[in-house]
Amino acid sequence: MGCCNGKIKQELGIIPKVRKIKNIAEGFAKLAVRRAGIDFKYAKERFAICESCDNITCLKESEFLAWLAENKIEVLKNLESLEKLSDLPIKPHRALTRRYCIKCKCNIMAKVHSKEERCPEKKW
Ligand code: SF4
Repeated sequence: MGCCNGKIKQELGIIPKVRKIKNIAEGFAKLAVRRAGIDFKYAKERFAICESCDNITCLKESEFLAWLAENKIEVLKNLESLEKLSDLPIKPHRALTRRYCIKCKCNIMAKVHSKEERCPEKKW
């Protein structure tokens, strides 16, 4: 056993998860800036691709939270690679829904605004 009781390894395992959370938070921040009138050309181009993709779904907050609750342990274990988990349910656009990618489980508007994020299907 090492001198740190595996603590360093454990902490290194957290880094990709923190990066993913940071990317999505950054996406939300840029989304807020866009609403304030600043343009992100790359986000528009990505969003257009997502809009025509079969992997987009529109979920109410309660529907997304229900999926998270069902998969919570796996979500925590695979935060950096959520595309490995079962797809989100496909639902049509309705009132009070947000767009998500059924593969990576990200909020599309936040994802397209984060420069570090990549489409899990390599479409952008
Ligand atoms: S991120 Fe990729 S796979 Fe997901 S909806 Fe957008 S284009 Fe489709």
